[in-house]
Amino acid sequence: MIRVFEKNKQLHVDGKSDMAKLIVVSLSLQPILSLAVRYNLSPDETAHKLSGYFRMLGADLVLDMVVADDFALLENQREFVERYRAAEEAANSSEFLPMLASSCPGWVCYAEKTHGSLVIPHIATTKSPQQIMGSLIKDHLARELGRTPDSIYHVTLMPCYDKKLEASREDFTNQQLHTRDVDCVITAIELEQLLQRDNQSLASMDSVQLDFPWSKTLPSNSALVSHQGSGSGGYADLIFLHAARELFGNSHPDLQYKSLRNPDFREVILEQDGRILLRFAIANGFRNIQNLVQKMKRGKSSYHYVEVMACPSGCLNGGAQVRPQDGSSPRELTMRLEAVYESLQKQVPEENHTVQELYSTWLEGAHSDKCVAMLHTKYHSVEKMTTALNIKW
Ligand code: SF4
Repeated sequence: MIRVFEKNKQLHVDGKSDMAKLIVVSLSLQPILSLAVRYNLSPDETAHKLSGYFRMLGADLVLDMVVADDFALLENQREFVERYRAAEEAANSSEFLPMLASSCPGWVCYAEKTHGSLVIPHIATTKSPQQIMGSLIKDHLARELGRTPDSIYHVTLMPCYDKKLEASREDFTNQQLHTRDVDCVITAIELEQLLQRDNQSLASMDSVQLDFPWSKTLPSNSALVSHQGSGSGGYADLIFLHAARELFGNSHPDLQYKSLRNPDFREVILEQDGRILLRFAIANGFRNIQNLVQKMKRGKSSYHYVEVMACPSGCLNGGAQVRPQDGSSPRELTMRLEAVYESLQKQVPEENHTVQELYSTWLEGAHSDKCVAMLHTKYHSVEKMTTALNIKW
């Protein structure tokens, strides 16, 4: 990444700006919060300092990922309702349900390698926010700016190394132009190391507002937002609320989770007249994932949707978040991050006017072929290899 930034700067200095790439950096929320706690800054200050830092390195645009997060949630909601209705019509409802979360590449890669044909049909086809951001930058923004996708270098800031594997999937690579939707993933811990290497602190960077290239109308509130529900993006909560409203006309369902084996496996149900209409769960960490898959194998899973995340406690505790500094335990740090996530203003995806505008101006309407191409993906069973060197992602 640093090499690309430096090469680009040199091209500008040499008067060859036409050969330089447009460098775009997308900041996801969980590493912003991790760095906020690390440098004792507020979440908004951290985002602005990150913007200042990346601009100092040579970035042209630094963005948050709310638009991609909201697209991911809305498409997951729509997909769930479609699957639920299809399951009701089908002789064998287990063809369509449960729907399993798709935003965690740690989980998706594991499913592809170990339980291909059993699990893959159940994983939501909606791309993760990182890859939706990739489509937004390399398709929508490229067209808007009259650029080709390969003339943009897209960096994302993420909470885990698995996001690098996700970015490198063939499905997200433009073979003709030899470019990816996400060219480089940097994690919170790598960013901390970069700053340490240069004897710098994020706190001493200039504060620069984030860019908003999606619409001429700026959002009324530019503060960072999170979503109701888990710190992994709120999928279970928001799909549950949407399904209760859309399928059963219930706009205020009781959203009370019950922990099952451990706090990382909890479920919530919607009940009416003693009948369970919706049964959702959040399963974090591989121990719980294995239990879930075993249940599915035995035909004993009664879930309609499961938010599956590979890291214990989900994305706030991602494998490449900054480690605890002050002698606190990883669990204490995660609880602190959860509290900061919770303190942010809650975003309602349906109320994101920019996303609604992009559905018509960029995607030619919801349900269009373009929508499928830009916001959805496919998964592939990966044969078991005999040596670690042959691992295919
Ligand atoms: S749960 Fe962990 S591996 Fe999965 S996307 Fe979140 S941080 Fe990455």
